[in-house]
Amino acid sequence: MQYTGSVYRPPSEAYSLIIQVTLGCAHNGCTFCGMFKDKSFSLRNEEDIFRDLEESRRMFRRVERVFLADGDALVLKNDKLLRILEKIKTLFPECERVGIYGSPQDVLRKTPGELAALRNEGLGIVYIGAESGSDKVLTDIKKGATRAEITESIVKTENAGIPASVTFISGLAGQDGWRDHAALCGTMISEAAPSYIGLLTLIAEPPAPLFADIAAGRFKLLTPVQVVEETRLMLQHIDIKGRDCVFRSNHASNYVSLRGTLPSDKDSMIARLDAALRDAGGLKDERFRML
Ligand code: SF4
Repeated sequence: MQYTGSVYRPPSEAYSLIIQVTLGCAHNGCTFCGMFKDKSFSLRNEEDIFRDLEESRRMFRRVERVFLADGDALVLKNDKLLRILEKIKTLFPECERVGIYGSPQDVLRKTPGELAALRNEGLGIVYIGAESGSDKVLTDIKKGATRAEITESIVKTENAGIPASVTFISGLAGQDGWRDHAALCGTMISEAAPSYIGLLTLIAEPPAPLFADIAAGRFKLLTPVQVVEETRLMLQHIDIKGRDCVFRSNHASNYVSLRGTLPSDKDSMIARLDAALRDAGGLKDERFRML
């Protein structure tokens, strides 16, 4: 198995076989993100990818999930992705799901037919970083996509029969805009109705460009209590119809861990946040937060 540089995967892919099909992130511009600053974006050779898959088959008796890395592996042309998915199906007939990171632009570049073909070959989830529902925040963080484009990419993924797992980041607007950020994330989630929402809380570490802004006082982080209030406001603005949405804020960066299904668990999750606000001891200690 050949891994190049740091390898990242979503929390729910903790037990998956991770195969790098690209290296780095084709965008690599988000100001809060330092994940792939150590490598230039490139595509891996198909022979190398297949060799890793064959070696994994020899190493592991049972592989139920495969995750295709790095940053936005969905950027690969469909033909190549289909050949990789076919190889996974052949080598790992027991595999139940293949997951992948995809940027909104990666999804929008593919036709509905191409996405359906990926689904039919085993692609079972696409992880999309929305980060915010506010166009101002998306511009500030250099996301490279607008609210409308991100919403369209989520709807397009779900319409192709592939569940979308979408990430938002608490605290990303800082002190100046957290109420707008919360409300606009909530309304965007309502419009896009993804199958899964993952809420992280901002931690900017070097070499993320935002780290320098925080250190220089140009960006003011929210207090832990404000982060919880922001999450509460976001949940209040979520009104999902027609599909259950699993909402999780159980990442190591979060002050309060939530897990529920929207819309049915909305009130109980808000009550959990209220309880945490009444008792500051209910918030995770800063020392235990991490990315
Ligand atoms: S957040 Fe995602 S899209 Fe943005 S630079 Fe990091 S890996 Fe790339």
